[in-house]
Amino acid sequence: MTDTEKVLLYTNALDSWGIEAQVAMVMEETGEMLSALAKARRGRVTKDEIITELVDVSIMMEQMAVYFGLDEFREEKDHKLSRLKERLKEWKEKHNNE
Ligand SMILES: [Mg+2]
Repeated sequence: MTDTEKVLLYTNALDSWGIEAQVAMVMEETGEMLSALAKARRGRVTKDEIITELVDVSIMMEQMAVYFGLDEFREEKDHKLSRLKERLKEWKEKHNNE
């Protein structure tokens, strides 16, 4: 599915069910993901089940980004990824010198 198709799909979902219902879905899916990750720590969930829950949350995050501002979301994500890259570089420099 292309980015444009995804945006249209998310917009359709938001228009059909409304932001309040979709925010409730974010909470529900996030809870399911946290539960799966907690179970994974004890080996009580399969990798496929974890992937499914990560995808559910990812879809809801993308939908929220469309609602609250996709351009701003992407800009902030790029900013934070750059910051992560810099922090990792600094950490590696520090720990390679120990
Ligand atoms: Mg789920």
